[in-house]
Amino acid sequence: MDNTSTNHDSNNQNLESILDSNQAYLLILERAKELVKRVIEIRGHKTPPFVLEEYAGLTHISRISEADLGKTSGLLLKMRSGYLIKVNQNHHAVRKRFSIAHEIGHILFNELKLERYIPSIEYRNSNLQGETKNRLKFREHLCDVVATELLMPEIIFGEYLNNFGLSVSSVGRLAQIFGVSIPSTALRIAEISQHPCIAVLWKDGSKYKPKTLRVDWSIGPGKTTSVLSSFSPITKQVDATSSIYKAYLDDGIIISHQSFKKGNIIKNCRVESQRFGYNENKYVISLAFPTNPSA
Ligand SMILES: [Zn+2]
Repeated sequence: MDNTSTNHDSNNQNLESILDSNQAYLLILERAKELVKRVIEIRGHKTPPFVLEEYAGLTHISRISEADLGKTSGLLLKMRSGYLIKVNQNHHAVRKRFSIAHEIGHILFNELKLERYIPSIEYRNSNLQGETKNRLKFREHLCDVVATELLMPEIIFGEYLNNFGLSVSSVGRLAQIFGVSIPSTALRIAEISQHPCIAVLWKDGSKYKPKTLRVDWSIGPGKTTSVLSSFSPITKQVDATSSIYKAYLDDGIIISHQSFKKGNIIKNCRVESQRFGYNENKYVISLAFPTNPSA
């Protein structure tokens, strides 16, 4: 450690913090990509889905079992014989897969000793509890990055996306082929598509106002480390007259035009929306394509 790290101003501290977290991100992603490469070598083909047991042997996992974990999705235990992953038996199969992949993320995080790269996220937050929370949040985010790469390897997912076409109509098929949830698939498309794409999940907002949908999350275009660096619809709540709500009620894909915003930057987008799920678990996924991508 050099002494410059102890007496610089808060701007430098912030920059250093960003560099550190970015380094942690790159290291853990590289390790996840190595695992994918080795699994493909061992099995001799790259056809999805990627089975988590295939990664287990490469990451010192001795056992993956199911248990009633209440509200917890997954647990990682370090035993003498190796790691033990417990996954919530009450969750849907695709959610279990993501939870196990996320726990593998924790193994990689521990083995790469990434805690040291994250001296402090949010330097300006003097509240210690808040700081711990942000560090935990970032660690969880990195584990999700690993899970995403293990289940939907960038290059392979990209090839399938190119073949199927960049459209909300590809989401369902990709989710099925890769054995992941619809929202995870939409998010992955926004992350890696060659043409700028923003993914949005709209949920029933009737708890707040009858016959409305509200933005649950919005991500993209491209890889972003936080929702703050993503574009989101200017209109965060839509009513029954909107095209998004029409997608919620009908089958099929509804096309509309919406404006998206990040800070002061506004992008006008062509938006494709489709409903997924059933009954009270219905939601709408929109994929938005900027019509002025360079603006
Ligand atoms: Zn976790």
